Amino acid sequence: MKLCMIGTGYVGLVSGTCFADIGNQVYCVDKDSIKINKLNSGISPIYEPGLDELIDKNFKAKRLIFTTDLKQAIGASDIIFICVGTPNKKGSLQVDLSFVYKCVQEILLFTKKKKIIVTKSTVPLGTGDLIEKIIKKKRKLFSVISNPEFLREGEAIRDFRFPDRIVIGSNDKKEFKIMQKLYSPLINKGAKFFTTSRRGAELIKYAANAFLATKITYINEIANLCEESGINIEDVSLGLGLDSRIGSRFLRAGPAYGGSCFPKDTKGLVSVADKYKINLSIVKSVIKSNQERIDLLTKRVHKILGNNIKGKKISLLGVTFKPNTDDMRDSTSLNMIPYFCKKGAHVSYYDPSGEKKEFKNLKNCNFKKNIKDNCFKADLIILLTEWDEFKSIDFKRVVKKKNFKIYDLRNLYTSNEMKRNKIKYYSIGRPDTN
Ligand code: NAD
Repeated sequence: MKLCMIGTGYVGLVSGTCFADIGNQVYCVDKDSIKINKLNSGISPIYEPGLDELIDKNFKAKRLIFTTDLKQAIGASDIIFICVGTPNKKGSLQVDLSFVYKCVQEILLFTKKKKIIVTKSTVPLGTGDLIEKIIKKKRKLFSVISNPEFLREGEAIRDFRFPDRIVIGSNDKKEFKIMQKLYSPLINKGAKFFTTSRRGAELIKYAANAFLATKITYINEIANLCEESGINIEDVSLGLGLDSRIGSRFLRAGPAYGGSCFPKDTKGLVSVADKYKINLSIVKSVIKSNQERIDLLTKRVHKILGNNIKGKKISLLGVTFKPNTDDMRDSTSLNMIPYFCKKGAHVSYYDPSGEKKEFKNLKNCNFKKNIKDNCFKADLIILLTEWDEFKSIDFKRVVKKKNFKIYDLRNLYTSNEMKRNKIKYYSIGRPDTN
């Protein structure tokens, strides 16, 4: 099939490349010419394991075309996927759909033959209806369907190829058949093809993200209780997760949830429900608890450093919201690092995905090129992201200072091994060794 992905970000680029890999002709369009130029010279603008090779293969096979020319891409495609960002409006819970609507206006300009418009972006329920209103005069030229994306950054290619389910929302049964054909290589390998109404599909995505955010927040709160009562959260997570009604995933206590989806989608869901005068009190509590968690962990850093941050050397290992991605959106580090700098600490950080523009203008904050340079002079090491290379560090060899401390927000190490090595070690929801 001939496809056009509008928006070549984490979702559009990965899904476009994977669609090309299963034999489709895919136009990946972005208004950001720097991104498109990079892609045309063989450089991926995002860090995602396995993506570079897959882009290269499909680009060389001419199944993947990168362009800023939307007119050409639309003209050549049967199905148009909208994959642009849907952030929250500034200072509000509401979803900013301006990027989506802008795409629709542009699609209208360039469409002469019948096309399917698919929202792959996460959009609030009723967005498909609003898109139909925008295209009312040319309605016969379009069908509008919802196909929310569930891939996770860092595992995106695997998630695309082996999804638990493919959700298609349409008010017209004909479109189910076309989408089933498009996804047949994945369905043949076991992916469930789930069809529902367009509004239903739109809501499923928000309900899924809010549920996962709730699970994380729940276990984080239980971890707080463990810390005060001397119980090991890992035992609790294990014992809980063995119940098949609950399941073991998303029960790892850690920092506040972040990333480009959970924070904005929980808020977006609440704001849509508010419009319907439905009080989603659980999701509201989750948002509040997650915000409070950032303060709680920062306070703990104060305590670990004897309430004296000024002049202390704090070294962070990992600053992205999760490993195997370069995405910084809503990462805990965005709050922690500026706060520590403001309080007079000397902050350094190392992240395998490289230096971050977000910290470039901060006084007293430096990027280091490897673990050793970052930790050598540390008073406190904060393990913030669980990249594989942080999982077996010989801290005694890496750090020069004698009385350095470690705050492990991902529970990558055990209290016992730290005790054996006489390292002051603090973690999440587990008894301290000190
Ligand atoms: P992103 O910010 O990485 O990419 C969006 C891209 O769209 C940018 O490159 C931007 O330049 C481009 N764009 C915006 N307006 C455009 C226009 N009019 N024409 C052409 N290009 C345009 O966003 P993302 O992380 O890929 O997320 C996209 C959507 O997918 C969001 O709704 C998000 O909630 C959803 N989603 C994201 C993930 C994820 O892990 N990132 C997972 C599932 C769903």
